[in-house]
Amino acid sequence: MKAHIVGGGFGGLAAAAYLIRNAEVSGQDITIYEAHERMGGSLSLGGNAETGYILPCGAIFDAKFRCTFDLLAEIPSTSSPGVSVKEEFFAFNVQYPFDDRAHIVDRNGRVVPHGPHFGLSLRDGFHLARLSLTPEAWLDGRQIKEFFSPSFFTTEFWWLWSTLMGSLPQHSAMELRRYINRALLLFPNLSDMRNILRAPLNQYEALIEPLVAWLRPRGVNLLTRTFVRDIGLAPTPGRITVHRLEYERDGAETSVAVGPEDLVLVTTGSEAADLAVGSMTEPPRQRNGGRSWALWKRLAEGRTEFGKPELFFGPARIPDSRWVSFTLTTKEGEFIKRMSALTDSEPGSGGLVTLKGSSWVLSLSIHHHPKVIGQPGGTNIVWGYGLHPERNGDFVRKPMAACTGAEILQELLRQLRFDDQLDAIMKSSICIPCDLPYVNNIWMPRNRTDRPRPVPEGSTNLGLMGQYVEVERDVAFTIEYSARTAWEAIQILLKRGPAPPPVYQGQYDPKALFGALKVFLCR
Ligand SMILES: Cc1cc2nc3c(=O)[nH]c(=O)nc-3n(C[C@H](O)[C@H](O)[C@H](O)COP(=O)(O)OP(=O)(O)OC[C@H]3O[C@@H](n4cnc5c(N)ncnc54)[C@H](O)[C@@H]3O)c2cc1C
Repeated sequence: MKAHIVGGGFGGLAAAAYLIRNAEVSGQDITIYEAHERMGGSLSLGGNAETGYILPCGAIFDAKFRCTFDLLAEIPSTSSPGVSVKEEFFAFNVQYPFDDRAHIVDRNGRVVPHGPHFGLSLRDGFHLARLSLTPEAWLDGRQIKEFFSPSFFTTEFWWLWSTLMGSLPQHSAMELRRYINRALLLFPNLSDMRNILRAPLNQYEALIEPLVAWLRPRGVNLLTRTFVRDIGLAPTPGRITVHRLEYERDGAETSVAVGPEDLVLVTTGSEAADLAVGSMTEPPRQRNGGRSWALWKRLAEGRTEFGKPELFFGPARIPDSRWVSFTLTTKEGEFIKRMSALTDSEPGSGGLVTLKGSSWVLSLSIHHHPKVIGQPGGTNIVWGYGLHPERNGDFVRKPMAACTGAEILQELLRQLRFDDQLDAIMKSSICIPCDLPYVNNIWMPRNRTDRPRPVPEGSTNLGLMGQYVEVERDVAFTIEYSARTAWEAIQILLKRGPAPPPVYQGQYDPKALFGALKVFLCR
């Protein structure tokens, strides 16, 4: 039996590891096809201290990433010899927990104090509870704003929530319902972020490199710069059986025969699709490539069991989906000194700072040092993003998506009221912007059948994984979702190994329920 995995992001790498560990497939029988230069997908790392680091993704996790940590418990860390990635991850978070004391900053550069009940009225609390208890069957196509009054979207809760999780009022009520139940345990600490975890290093070095280092000696064939153009399905009525896979590599086209006993696992899309990187002097050049969902589009043509890629991808989705993120590499410490004074926190412990008054809704996070192996002392990395990059800035009168790194940095510094140090900080910093037109598309209002199942009806050897696949209860904007869909597809198709652990549901956890009730409903 051969296994073909399309997509070398966290999901594809986890799939290969689950095949070996859970289903006892030999590594030599597994091939991963990845269109990019490197494995890792969304969890990429680029640049350096001199030219500016490029870390397009933020990173928040929680302890209930059950499929992920189940796997990472067996993968040795590549940066801390002798311990697993999971052990390293939790040890780091115990040693350096988030303690966010300045999560929201107003337009005068002052910290907005965390208020009782996160500014929610009793009515808002009931509306949250009502949505959490509404069956998904009643939420097809519905939007968040249908369930709350306009004042809800001005509360501290919503500022914290929308900037941590990415949701907007026009987004999916079904996905928010999932988030409420899945993240209930985090609710009382949304402001200080104490129960939110992050990787000890950037996700590429903390997660992708160890997985690759584990897979390679087991003989897994890792093909980069390899784009799978098509997969051919045998013409058997009522059944879906892959019999051919076609890929392009270095300009050459190759067709691979796939037997009925073989397995094909496809990542159907990417939140980092059409990612474009700019520089201090150039805005990101917007791309319209569409390669990371091209295969899904092909599969879905004329077949309802493959869902509706057009609901998540394509120009019409971008206005409700785009973020612009930026990575700031800053030396000489003035910016960090100012931020530490403002937030009363050491770099890395403060979590997210959201600039409430900024039209772009800028949020930033100062990473723990080092975030990247070999990062020089005195050089800090800050990650940030704009939830509304389509709006004009308040100081730089342009949409964020059209700005250079220097313009974004200038807007940020002026929002923070660091004007007196603006020139010095600009001179000692490099800001690299990154356009992410589809990052938030998992929030698009959807019906339950708009994403295909990990094993579509009638499939005998084709499994699907990643954000654009439907598994019950879990929330999509996570590496956990990629791992879970991969595990589920493999278990259903091969019927080997355990089923994935159940999705954590806070509404059945007395501790989470009590905590949330205390915060939101008890007055
Ligand atoms: C800005 C940002 C912030 C995020 N923040 C968080 C967070 O805080 N916490 C969290 O848990 N998750 C977060 N995520 C989500 C997380 O990064 C993703 O869920 C996860 O990395 C997805 O892994 P994946 O393998 O499913 O897909 P991807 O990492 O997107 O990889 C898919 C890969 O498949 C390849 N591919 C697709 N089609 C083909 C083809 N036909 N041929 C060859 N290759 C193909 C693509 O090139 C891509 O590399 C964030 C994502 C982004 C973009």
